[in-house]
Amino acid sequence: MTRRVALLGKPLKRRHSVVMHNAAFEAAGIDGRYELLELDPEAVEAAVAAARGPEFLGLGVTAPYKKVVAGLCDEVEADAATIGAVNNVVRRDDGRLVGINTDAPGFRAGVELAMGRPLAGTNVVVVGAGGAASAVVYACLAAGARRVTIGNRTAPAAEELAKRMAGLGEGTVSGTGLDDPAFRKALASANLAVNATTVGMLDPGMTLPVDTLRDDATVFDLVYVPAETTLLAAARSRRLRAANGSEMLIAQAAAAFERWTGVGGMADVMREAVQPLLDDTSVQA
Ligand code: NAP
Repeated sequence: MTRRVALLGKPLKRRHSVVMHNAAFEAAGIDGRYELLELDPEAVEAAVAAARGPEFLGLGVTAPYKKVVAGLCDEVEADAATIGAVNNVVRRDDGRLVGINTDAPGFRAGVELAMGRPLAGTNVVVVGAGGAASAVVYACLAAGARRVTIGNRTAPAAEELAKRMAGLGEGTVSGTGLDDPAFRKALASANLAVNATTVGMLDPGMTLPVDTLRDDATVFDLVYVPAETTLLAAARSRRLRAANGSEMLIAQAAAAFERWTGVGGMADVMREAVQPLLDDTSVQA
């Protein structure tokens, strides 16, 4: 029986996950297939129910269904519940579906590589207050960041996210608007500044001024299409450490693959398979 994983989302324009997971199935010698399942909202419940069938290893989940699928799982792991988003589902042998979040460990792996140091003890500024930003803030606090400042266009969403994450780890967390003096002040002492919005991908421009950052700060953009956003170009022209979200993408996929199959260590296989897509400037956001 060919085992299946289906990615639920709408729209599903990118093939990055298909390429990574199918390369990993092949390298691991597993008869498995990862496929895209673009669905309207009313079809999501039935698609999740179908994943209880024995041919399924689980599901991938992307926008706009990361929250709704959490509510359809039989169980949601504690970190995914705190983050409020499920980006993958694991089918257990008894058919029960467990919602997990691999964006948080994926971010940690990608950003620690970019920074060349652990997140522990760092001051972090995160721009955004959606699902990806929640995973980033969670990962920073769980990894021992000293201070996390969330800036968002809609300030109340940043404040609400900070409230939800308060008490995680030893660090402090607060939320502000992007025009707030507290946001600029936090940037001036940040070791790491993260763009966790869709700006750079869907909207032109950038969400944080790089001129106020320290010379030894790292800028990390979750966007990976295009590979070089305006923010990353500005950071590089200031000679700051800068990285896009491609290593996070690979690390979160490798973590999910391990949860579905028990086979770890697939990041290199996935990176090699997806590199042509990451390098292809004609791939649209
Ligand atoms: P989301 O839930 O829709 O959140 C969008 C965020 O972007 C919100 O905070 C929103 O602010 C902000 N935003 C949108 N347009 C803006 C603008 N013009 N100016 C300022 N802020 C703006 O999206 P998401 O799921 O968190 O995803 C965010 C990004 O992360 C996407 O680009 C996604 O591709 C990327 N991502 C990458 C990876 C990876 O592995 N590299 C994984 C997950 C996500 P408001 O609250 O004010 O609307």
